Amino acid sequence: MMDTSVSVFRTPIKHCRNCGADVVYRVPDDGDTRERAVCPACDTIHYENPLNVVGTVPHWGDKVLLCKRNIEPRWGKWTLPAGFMELNETARDGAARETDEEAGAKFEMEDLIAVLSVPRVGQVHMYWRAKLLSDQFDPGHETIEARLFTEEEIPWDEIAFKTVYETLKCYFADRREGRAGIVHTIDIV
Ligand SMILES: [Zn+2]
Repeated sequence: MMDTSVSVFRTPIKHCRNCGADVVYRVPDDGDTRERAVCPACDTIHYENPLNVVGTVPHWGDKVLLCKRNIEPRWGKWTLPAGFMELNETARDGAARETDEEAGAKFEMEDLIAVLSVPRVGQVHMYWRAKLLSDQFDPGHETIEARLFTEEEIPWDEIAFKTVYETLKCYFADRREGRAGIVHTIDIV
């Protein structure tokens, strides 16, 4: 998983990807209304748009799988398996890939549970339910430990990201109330 920090906005573009010249941030002359990184040498406009973070809520009985982060930011905090979508993969496949990489879990992908917008950092996070097929895990190098928690056992004060916290709350609320197939849309502002 790459850095899915919700506390640091992405670094401004410095150089033109087309010709390497220094860019300037200004409103382009084409009727646009937002500041963009514009290259004064070749006129290329570099558009920046939100990135997608995809992950799962892997569950086993009344427990969910959390991973203890072995990377910054939030080293040592607990998270759901998730990371940035790669090019040439679907959102769902990306969520499955991250679950495999970070937890080394055997699972079946289920339905989408939450779509969370984090406009402050230009990200959209999507989580799918995933049914674990075994309680044995083989976490990758980005994870210190992968462990199952009941709702009561979850270290709520040690959850790495608000998006993960909100998704877990949705998962357990649905479970308690016997709801299935609901997609929660959450704005984290
Ligand atoms: Zn250029």
